[in-house]
Amino acid sequence: MSVKHLSHVEKRGKLYEGKAKVLYTTDEADLVIQHFKDDATAFNGEKKGEIANKGRMNNLISARIFYFLNESGIKTHYVATLNDNEQLVKKLAVIPIEVVVRNVVAGSLAKRLGKEEGMELDDPVIELYFKDDSLGDPMINRFHVNSFKIADPEHIRVMEVEAQRINNMLWSFFDERGILLVDFKLEFGLHKGELLLGDEISPDSCRLWDKETKEKLDKDRFRRDLGNIEESYQEVLDRVLK
Ligand code: UDP
Repeated sequence: MSVKHLSHVEKRGKLYEGKAKVLYTTDEADLVIQHFKDDATAFNGEKKGEIANKGRMNNLISARIFYFLNESGIKTHYVATLNDNEQLVKKLAVIPIEVVVRNVVAGSLAKRLGKEEGMELDDPVIELYFKDDSLGDPMINRFHVNSFKIADPEHIRVMEVEAQRINNMLWSFFDERGILLVDFKLEFGLHKGELLLGDEISPDSCRLWDKETKEKLDKDRFRRDLGNIEESYQEVLDRVLK
């Protein structure tokens, strides 16, 4: 499909509304529009709020990163940016597993193992979480995936390999922009039988610290009431567009 044609793709029915995004169908059965909202939630939806311009900033940050990953040979759902808050993506049958990659101790890992936030890990840690809000997205491993038939074990194997490749690429991408990639979450899905990276990569789904000052430039500013949330997301946008 030509780029000219893509700019004319229009929203049809609402397919799904999540906490931070809405998906709309289009006239193309295989393509959907991903709309980024300003709504912010944390702690499994217990804390709710709005971050001014978050939808726009996350749409543009995620689009830049997915464009970079596509160019680097990672298969993703990203097709094109349509406007400030929307991007065209390939429709996925989402695999109900979140893959978290960690380079530095923070968040739930710090709590679980009683370690200080900020400790750099010798090797990245990869974790799997079962996507189920009613259970609070519990951490699982490959054995749970197999025994409870949560997903195809081969897909999980590929997701873990891809997560490591993506981590190597994004570590350098952010490093060049003065940002420490502490940790991040990925989601994958199937499109015409092919495993693609989906969802978003933004300060909502990553921990991003200024390399020099270690200042937090991500959703922890909202989770922990640190202030300057919009300014921090804007700082990330400015740096990723460099
Ligand atoms: N994360 C996410 N969605 C989730 C859970 C985690 O995007 O539902 C991201 C989070 O922003 C962080 C990384 O995954 O970059 C690791 O999160 P962690 O397990 O430390 O959990 P949290 O502290 O967010 O509860």
